[in-house]
Amino acid sequence: MKALAVFPGRPKTLHLEELEKPSLDSIPNGRGVLVRVLRVGVDGTDKEINAAEYGAAPPGYDFLVIGHEGFGQVEAVGPEVTELKPGDFVVATVRRPGGSIYDRIGTSDMTTDDVYFERGINLRHGYLTEYYVDDADFIVKVPQGLREVGVLLEPMTVVEKGITQAYEIQRRLRVWRPKRAAVTGAGTIGLLAALVLRLRGLEVTVFGQRPAPYRNSDLLQELDARYLSTKATSVVDGAAQYGPFDLIFEATGYSPIVFEAMQALGKNGVLVLSSVTGGDRRVEVPSDMINLDFVLGNKVMVGTVNANREYFERGVQDMASAEAEYAGWLGQLLTHPIKGLGNYEQLLDTLTKAKDAIKVYCEVAPMPPARERVQELALHDLSAAH
Ligand code: BGC
Ligand code: ZN
Repeated sequence: MKALAVFPGRPKTLHLEELEKPSLDSIPNGRGVLVRVLRVGVDGTDKEINAAEYGAAPPGYDFLVIGHEGFGQVEAVGPEVTELKPGDFVVATVRRPGGSIYDRIGTSDMTTDDVYFERGINLRHGYLTEYYVDDADFIVKVPQGLREVGVLLEPMTVVEKGITQAYEIQRRLRVWRPKRAAVTGAGTIGLLAALVLRLRGLEVTVFGQRPAPYRNSDLLQELDARYLSTKATSVVDGAAQYGPFDLIFEATGYSPIVFEAMQALGKNGVLVLSSVTGGDRRVEVPSDMINLDFVLGNKVMVGTVNANREYFERGVQDMASAEAEYAGWLGQLLTHPIKGLGNYEQLLDTLTKAKDAIKVYCEVAPMPPARERVQELALHDLSAAH
């Protein structure tokens, strides 16, 4: 079978590899799940991996199969798998357990190990291939009705973790009734953060670079979220007008904005940082003022990375709520489908150059019909035979 891989450490080496189809018995205890890949999203992490700024090959390989935003259909399960069956739509988590106590309780997203294992990113092959197998513990079922948007689940989990952690942290306050939230960044993660915060009933202001109107600001309008371009209104000015913000979710990929967000945070507020910034940018900041306001305002800032199974399950629930409340909204994020693993150059080109892209993804295989439909067709065949 075919797979899209890079040679980590060497820039721009995306290419096709030929791999053997994985087998169910490579997973111990009868817990294997064989998944046929349907769609795989790509993001900034893949960009960095292809630029050789990030990523490592699994032991014994000189290449790394990329792709961590997978969506597929179960083809076969081992004898000890009861929670999934062939035909189910699924998404697999990204990180695999290491040795720390957090890994041992199912929260490898909180690992304290220096080395971490992430499928499609670090030391483990990813999902940009035709089939993969994994332990059922790491595979999450996606309802039939969400199959057209299921490829958005992994980015959704990054948001779910950040927001869940914020609410967990705020239990320190005994009573927390957040009213206003801000999101910095209007890319895939920023849009999904705005969605989840709107589903939680918060008033949401999103800061992006581009002046409105454009696709992303229109999408935010559909959620009744406010969009502000930082070209006209800084985050601090936006907070003076529309704050104080009880929660800020940072997702720009641009670290200097963190120090602005710190100044825009309300008393007792929580600032969630989710941008992976691999560079070495430096800025000058009003440190006395920021520190003083944090101290006098009992504010919190927290970093968040990756997501464990709990957040995948929450992501599924929120995607279902989103379809119920804002029908069709999620599907509008799927702006740039690229057909087939063979078109990997176009996939990379679109990822790096398409200015109006929200989610770029590879259609590895065509979407099968929903199960109800399959049953109907089977009945139809039956009656036709009579
Ligand atoms: C992925 C996370 C991962 C992080 C750091 C992100 O793009 O979505 O699962 O933990 O990169 O490698
Ligand atoms: Zn990612």
